[in-house]
Amino acid sequence: MEADHLGLEPALEALPPKPPALEALPPKPPALEALPPKPPALEALPPKPPALEALPPKPPALEALPPKPPALEALPPKPPALEALPPKPPALEALPPKPPALEALPPQPPALEALPPKPPALEALPPRRPRSLSNLWTGAAIRETKRASCDTSPTGPPMSFQILMNGVGNAFSREHYGTNFLLQKDDFLLAVDCPDSYRNALQDHAFEHKGEEVDVDTIDAIVITHLHGDHVNGLEMTLAYRRYVSGGKMKIYTSPEAGERLWDGRLAVSLGRSYNGETYDDLTPDDYYDLDIIEWGEPHKIGPFEITTRCTTHHLPTMAMRISDGEHTLGYSCDTAYDPELIEWLGDADFIMHETSFGPGHTPLDKLMGLPEELRQKMLVVHLPEGFQPIDELDFAQQGQTYTVG
Ligand SMILES: [Zn+2]
Repeated sequence: MEADHLGLEPALEALPPKPPALEALPPKPPALEALPPKPPALEALPPKPPALEALPPKPPALEALPPKPPALEALPPKPPALEALPPKPPALEALPPKPPALEALPPQPPALEALPPKPPALEALPPRRPRSLSNLWTGAAIRETKRASCDTSPTGPPMSFQILMNGVGNAFSREHYGTNFLLQKDDFLLAVDCPDSYRNALQDHAFEHKGEEVDVDTIDAIVITHLHGDHVNGLEMTLAYRRYVSGGKMKIYTSPEAGERLWDGRLAVSLGRSYNGETYDDLTPDDYYDLDIIEWGEPHKIGPFEITTRCTTHHLPTMAMRISDGEHTLGYSCDTAYDPELIEWLGDADFIMHETSFGPGHTPLDKLMGLPEELRQKMLVVHLPEGFQPIDELDFAQQGQTYTVG
């Protein structure tokens, strides 16, 4: 009513009616609906599952890699490589076989077999009386005088000399000491060679000299025939004993070749240096021995003996010797291959000692068996192999025995 009064009524009516305005607004629901629906947006994103699927599938990648098994197979197989190497067995076979080398050496069994059989040899020789050293070496020849001592006969010195047989074996013998002996004339004692266990041998045999048991102290001089161990291995101990225990030097006689090598080649390595409690001393041959060289073929005086040497057919320069006391002579072959000329050189000695053993450089027993009886009657065989069997045609040296030359 008021509006009519004011005259406003038509103006209000002129206003756009509210309801229509409200209605004219874009309806909310339709706006919401007009928004792009979220679900469709999510759906519009590239679906994750498809992306994963779009990645290159791992399994195919692994499969695409070159498969390991094929790679191993593609490598050159090891077994074929080993097979391709020169096989070891053929290489060993290609080497010069050792058995043939041993066979190339002069075989010992054949050497034994090469000896004339004992029964035929015995039958071929004229029958002999039972032999012993006492009935073999008679008159001016040799006689056995076991445990002989120096003759002190008031009628004067005996015109003879003794052989003290201190060893009769070869290099490998377990039954005997290596061949060595001592020559005893009046009050002089000359040793010939000095193998292993030298003092043991002297002790075992208990030889006497000037009323005393022979030991390295009682030896006046020593002859070294050659530098094989079975002739010289005991020298180191003997020289050391003389220097450090009993005092004094040894007089050594040997060949020019052995004399040149004796110190540097054998003794210096052990005797050349000595600890004195505070420091080390360098020693020389002069600290142990006086060396005297026996020239080949030239008579050399040693005490009451005169010695003449001859080089034998052996592995090393080796001295065969004629040893004389002025009245009687001992001939010693030392180590040697069978040598008729050497036997002839020794032949007129009153007594002969000759070696035997197997192999080149030594004399087979059958060669000695074949010598004239005149020679065999005054021959004593030394340097005996282990296990040898004595035969009636020859006399074999016995270690520990004393033999007299004269
Ligand atoms: Zn030898």
